[in-house]
Amino acid sequence: MRIQILGTAAAEACPAIFCECENCREIRRKGDPRDVRRRASYLLDDDTLIDFGPDAFFQATTFQIDLTKIQRILFTHAHLDHQNATDLMWRHRGYSQCTRSLKVFGSHYTLSMLLHRLTAEGESVSFDEVLVEPVALHAYQPSTDGDLEILPLEADHAPGKAPMLYLLTRGGKTLLVGNDTGYFLPEVWKHLEGKHIDIALLDSTSSLKYANQERGHMGAAIVVKVAERLREMGCADKASRLVATHFSHNGNSIHSELEAYFAPHHIEVAYDGLVFEL
Ligand SMILES: [Zn+2]
Ligand SMILES: [Zn+2]
Ligand SMILES: [Zn+2]
Repeated sequence: MRIQILGTAAAEACPAIFCECENCREIRRKGDPRDVRRRASYLLDDDTLIDFGPDAFFQATTFQIDLTKIQRILFTHAHLDHQNATDLMWRHRGYSQCTRSLKVFGSHYTLSMLLHRLTAEGESVSFDEVLVEPVALHAYQPSTDGDLEILPLEADHAPGKAPMLYLLTRGGKTLLVGNDTGYFLPEVWKHLEGKHIDIALLDSTSSLKYANQERGHMGAAIVVKVAERLREMGCADKASRLVATHFSHNGNSIHSELEAYFAPHHIEVAYDGLVFEL
């Protein structure tokens, strides 16, 4: 399993384009490329995307990703930093030459928002016209697509909008997509029992400034709490990669400061372009 991190920011990206805050000024001043964070998205092998947000074009061109190879997109939820209907609309005949359909997975709510946005753009009126095949998923109901096993889990985020975490297994390796959530819900912990995770991507939106935030998003101290519980339960072992990601400039997104905080806890800090080969 190969995972490439394409974006590690919360909604506004880092530096947030118009933002005058100290964190964003520091990023512009320092010039550390790891501090430039695009909106959250991950590439699994070369055929699966997890989320497809407003930086998709920038991510595909910067990291040389051939999007014609993508067979499926798993959407965690419908927030605009994760769902970019506009760039899916350019699959429409007359704009692009697309012959293969693209599966999109997500909760009913997430898929209905995607359809709403495609329609609102005025050109497309159906998934068919952009060769998109929607597949609705339900939390805690496992499904498979080809050799990919998908277990959707409920995120503690955006109440009423059915956001999801994903436990994805392929070729004996397991990835936990755990961004845009607070401390995991009791039902999630129950479903993780007995599972082995090779890599977990954990929401750290509230970061160092609001380290103890545990509902809706997580602060850094809560990420540590999740990592410790995964280890205690045996879901993660010494070889497992536990990775903090989805950072907000409002909480502190400076890479070197995040590394200093997380390193003693054996948690890695994601940056855009980072590749994990498992
Ligand atoms: Zn987000
Ligand atoms: Zn800022
Ligand atoms: Zn969100």
